[in-house]
Amino acid sequence: MIMRTPILAGNWKMYKTMAEASEFAEQLTNEGPIPYVEKVICAPFTALPIMSTILRESQFSLGAQNMHFEEQGAFTGEISPLMLTEMGVQYVIIGHSERRQYFNETDETVNKKAKAALAHGLTPIVCVGESLAEQESGLTEAIVKNQMEAALAGIDPEQVKTMVIAYEPIWAIGTGKTSTAEDANHTIGYIRNVVRAACGDAAADAIRIQYGGSVKPDNIVELLKQPEIDGALVGGASLTVDGYLSLVAGALSARG
Ligand code: PGA
Repeated sequence: MIMRTPILAGNWKMYKTMAEASEFAEQLTNEGPIPYVEKVICAPFTALPIMSTILRESQFSLGAQNMHFEEQGAFTGEISPLMLTEMGVQYVIIGHSERRQYFNETDETVNKKAKAALAHGLTPIVCVGESLAEQESGLTEAIVKNQMEAALAGIDPEQVKTMVIAYEPIWAIGTGKTSTAEDANHTIGYIRNVVRAACGDAAADAIRIQYGGSVKPDNIVELLKQPEIDGALVGGASLTVDGYLSLVAGALSARG
């Protein structure tokens, strides 16, 4: 049986000032060791330096929510991979549906950013997922196949093994509507087969694929008990320390 370490990532989106983020991080340092689950918080850029100082040497890792694919240049307002690694950031969300929808992120920039992240030793968490209209038209598999093939284009299968994918149906994000555990498992299994066809068995068996979209402490166990679902990317429910830790506990009890 293939064992993949579950990864629970909080996506704070545009929430939390530095003061709020540092208080959250301080509270996490009181936790005893939580085995097995990889624990990540993707905080706003402004909160990353202070959180990195507080969480250094801790069991919690930091992620950013976006980055540019160039190391430097005339790109006003952007943050480069070098700037992230310097802060001790280890993960970066790429191609979240909110960035695709509101900030003109395309399959092409997702691919460039994924390559840049890997080149700098950052683990990309690449988001894919269909809209409500696409789901209702039966297009879920076609959409995620296109997004995945574009995201992985030109990436060495050895590197694909280290990537994280987040399958987030857009209609489930922030809406309280979750995909059923069986449907999420089915689509994630399908995504894994897309990786298999594009990059081979070793990459498909190693890559971790999370589910995201209204994951809460009370539904995470059911979702993560599914064999294809390797973790969760969680927005709203990760914003309180109690919520975040309950999600981690849920991931541990489902897969531990
Ligand atoms: P949600 O967000 O958990 O609040 O639905 C998930 C996400 O957008 O990553």
